[in-house]
Amino acid sequence: MDNKQTHSFQAEVKQLLHLVTHSLYSNKEIFLRELISNASDACDKLRFEALDNSALYEDAPNLEVRILIDKAARTLTIRDNGIGMNAQEAIDHLGTIAKSGTKEFMGRLSGDQQKDAQLIGQFGVGFYSGYIVADRITVESRRAGDSAAQGVRWTSEGTGDFEVEAIDKPARGTDVVLHLREGEDEFLSAWKLRSIIGKYSDHISLPILMQKEEWDAEKQEQVVKDEWETVNKAAALWTRSKSDITQEQYEEFYKQISFDSQAPLAYTHNRVEGRSEYTQLLYVPAKAPYDLWNRDKRGGLKLYVKRIFIMDDAEALLPSYLRFVKGVVDSADLPLNVSREILQESRDVKAIREGCTKRVLSMLEDLANNEDAAKREQYAAFWTEFGSVLKEGVGEDFANRERLAKLLRFASTQADDGAQTVGLVDYVARMKEGQQAIYVITADTLAAAKNSPQLEIFKKKGIEVLLLTDRVDEWLLSHLHEFDGKPVQSVAKGAVDLGALQDEEEKKKAEEAAETFKPLLERIKASLKDKAGDVRVTTRLVDSPACLVSEEGDVSGHLARLLKQAGQ
Ligand code: ADP
Ligand code: MG
Repeated sequence: MDNKQTHSFQAEVKQLLHLVTHSLYSNKEIFLRELISNASDACDKLRFEALDNSALYEDAPNLEVRILIDKAARTLTIRDNGIGMNAQEAIDHLGTIAKSGTKEFMGRLSGDQQKDAQLIGQFGVGFYSGYIVADRITVESRRAGDSAAQGVRWTSEGTGDFEVEAIDKPARGTDVVLHLREGEDEFLSAWKLRSIIGKYSDHISLPILMQKEEWDAEKQEQVVKDEWETVNKAAALWTRSKSDITQEQYEEFYKQISFDSQAPLAYTHNRVEGRSEYTQLLYVPAKAPYDLWNRDKRGGLKLYVKRIFIMDDAEALLPSYLRFVKGVVDSADLPLNVSREILQESRDVKAIREGCTKRVLSMLEDLANNEDAAKREQYAAFWTEFGSVLKEGVGEDFANRERLAKLLRFASTQADDGAQTVGLVDYVARMKEGQQAIYVITADTLAAAKNSPQLEIFKKKGIEVLLLTDRVDEWLLSHLHEFDGKPVQSVAKGAVDLGALQDEEEKKKAEEAAETFKPLLERIKASLKDKAGDVRVTTRLVDSPACLVSEEGDVSGHLARLLKQAGQ
């Protein structure tokens, strides 16, 4: 290669450079995440190519990233001993946009600064993000397997063009040297860099090394020592094989990410392959957080892309009714710079959400239906903490409605203590001969539900009625019309038809009574003209003279009271 060639950036690169440096400034520290991720990719590529050519490791088989600070020169260097680039690769990869994703992005640019800045969040910006903090970047690289003399130096101010020259580079791999802009000296602080690495790159499986610093009392300053230490944890728990992880390690990790001091109730760890590739490590906590009721609260999942931290509380990864679940999703498909807005629309995310939802439901089913009584008790404990939130799912998650309905637990007229322990499967299993519906009653309190006159006939006939006293129960009923082919019927609504449960004589008596009392009913109806829609003779009462019921399809008395309280 002739020494020093000047090349012009591809037109799209110029546009992208301008956009990146201007619109990502508010979140400038991400440049380090991007450059470390490139270093990590380069090491992955070397590892892959070395599978059939181990000579590529030369004499340095330990893949690693080193971060070097030069305060005098005001440079920050990200060094890796990965695959490296030859001159042509440097020209191609750093001077043009070959990635289809970025091309698509360029095609969608509108020229409107604000809109474009939003767009950029959806695509990886990669190498060029270095120009947010640097006014010149020098890349020195040598491809694995090439001779020391085949090294390349690429350098550019990130405006119109870049220079390439041949250099001697004995060490394999790539140095990316950032010449920091005026005012960006914070990135010369080892402490600052460590904190950024801790935030974004802790779980990169490669060691990231920095030089130790020591306080020199004589010079009165921090001096850099010739001793290196690993500053990231370098092993993401979820990337390890299940069989290598102990329960204690799983629980410790949970405590770290959830800030919960108690062990979780259950967890699940899987690698999913196929249409969408990702790893999930999901936990069900033992205790509800104080703000569980806040539906705006973001979910508890952390999103990683190829072991690089992207964001906390990625609510798009699970439906809102599973917002109590904590854990990590690591996707192999999403771009690094994915934004919350994009997460909501991405098809990959949709697949992840469906997959995670199924996993959480399986975890709960496993507890609820376990042969081990201790596990079933854990489910009861779970229900006490999170049951009311899970109920939201019946209305929100149509695809899983049946599974969710089986997980519901209610208080019932068959259990004295009022504990929510009866599932719909149990209820249906012990329905009376000829009983066609699942009977429920809603009320503000358990006592009100239990003593409702509307229950009299059911008590007399020994028919079980579920007692619903949670605030979300009315809403639940408006979505849970049937279970296992049996209609769910509120005993406080309409003319409860006991159907086959009523014998012929009772029916006849009721009809006769309706005839006899017709004139009386007319008079009561007339005097309650604006207050009651209808007045009927009923067989549902045993001891009480009268009771109020709602019309079928109307809001129930309980809901009407709730709405009134809420000022509606
Ligand atoms: P992406 O990483 O998404 O491909 P980048 O803009 O981050 O996009 O990087 C562009 C390309 O430059 C990479 O695909 C790779 O070929 C090359 N590259 C960047 N950094 C390195 C590195 N440290 N070692 C080897 N190649 C690199
Ligand atoms: Mg990259």
